[in-house]
Amino acid sequence: DAFIDAVAAAKPLNAFLVETPDHARAAAKVADDARAAGETLKPLAGVPIGMKDLFCTQGVETTAASGILKGFVPQYESTVSGNLWNAGAGMLGKLNLDQFAMGSSNETSAFGNVISPWRRPGDTAPMAPGGSSGGSSAAIAARLCPAATGTDTGGSIRQPAAFVGITGIKPTYGRCSRYGVVAFASSLDQAGPMARDVRDCAIMLEAMAGFDPKDSTSLDLPVPAWEAGLNADLRGKRVGIPKEYRVDGMPAEIEALWQQGIEWLKDAGAEIVEVSLPHTKYALPAYYIIAPAEASSNLARYDGVRFGQRVLPDGAGLQDMYAATRAAGFGDEVKRRIMIGTYVLSAGFYDAYYTQAQKVRTLIARDFEQAWEQCDVLLTPTAPSAAFALGEKSADPIAMYLNDVFTVPSSLAGLPAMSVPGGVDKDGLPLGLQIIGKPLDEQGVLNAGLAIE
Ligand code: GLN
Repeated sequence: DAFIDAVAAAKPLNAFLVETPDHARAAAKVADDARAAGETLKPLAGVPIGMKDLFCTQGVETTAASGILKGFVPQYESTVSGNLWNAGAGMLGKLNLDQFAMGSSNETSAFGNVISPWRRPGDTAPMAPGGSSGGSSAAIAARLCPAATGTDTGGSIRQPAAFVGITGIKPTYGRCSRYGVVAFASSLDQAGPMARDVRDCAIMLEAMAGFDPKDSTSLDLPVPAWEAGLNADLRGKRVGIPKEYRVDGMPAEIEALWQQGIEWLKDAGAEIVEVSLPHTKYALPAYYIIAPAEASSNLARYDGVRFGQRVLPDGAGLQDMYAATRAAGFGDEVKRRIMIGTYVLSAGFYDAYYTQAQKVRTLIARDFEQAWEQCDVLLTPTAPSAAFALGEKSADPIAMYLNDVFTVPSSLAGLPAMSVPGGVDKDGLPLGLQIIGKPLDEQGVLNAGLAIE
């Protein structure tokens, strides 16, 4: 009830698009009844969580924060949300996000910006909660829910977690089913939890993950007992510091944060080694070719016929209906990505852009494979800055894309990666440290995070 009331009272943050208090209450009742009957409680019995509105929820409107899906009520449940209900959790509501998860500030939502609960001292300018999982990050930071789902294509769990001082992990690509998750870039999209600390993330991820025959890229592997395996003793572990992440013009406070993270991991017993990921500087351009290419293909399904909105001008034919629906339904950033993606996939430019980006992706994955010969996990900052004010970067897409510089390489390589709170900037705003792990080594990532938090 406390969380339900907090959600209802926090409308100005615009974190929730739909509130579902009855769903949360029903889960709490099941948990209460189980407790009264002396039954063993499920891992998330009665825990009220927020659900990023990219996950299809049966009978509850799911829009991906796009006008084109307004009014779309799925007839089925995403595997990840279904797994969470099976573990006993209940849903407080659907969380706002960047439209189709495209963005780093939650300013591309068709339903308004999410406002971070953080402010710079003496300044009332509303701050960005990060993106695309900005509703999730703001809701947890404002204590509207103890945990939420996120999705991460190029950093959308980690960067918003860093911006508000919470923890979020993107598991290895394939750990969580993509079935029923509105697709952005299918070879990169991965679900994961966001919560207040590492342990809560481990509990959530155990419930969310698992093989799903409905997703052909789902990994057919058992889900490890990550919570039981938590251990902050890093003796015998080697932590790699990738020298190419020392980008030009890195603010001194990000340098200091990184150094502090290194000290904490040393204190936990880890050995620090410098490693090289030589193709790092090509990751962002490759990502901003591959992700829009896949998006342009995935978003072709929104044609006004099968889902959500339809705009049918008087006397219009089928083509006019497609055009009018897509013109009205998609936001500017989504249109920009569809245009970029269509361009890089077009016959004349495919080899120059798309094929080239795929080659770069392979080189980036190889960089990591070589690094794993020298270390167990990598430590980097999560983002090159603290949160910025809403409106500060929204007019300049390149400046916005540059914010993803540290999160995108591990996405291209499909690796598990987490952001944990690591410090604050000169204004006292949170900064995050990122831990990147070997494929399937979520445990190593969580344990290094535990040593930091
Ligand atoms: N900010 C990145 C983008 O706009 C990542 C988004 C995401 O991970 N969904 O593509």
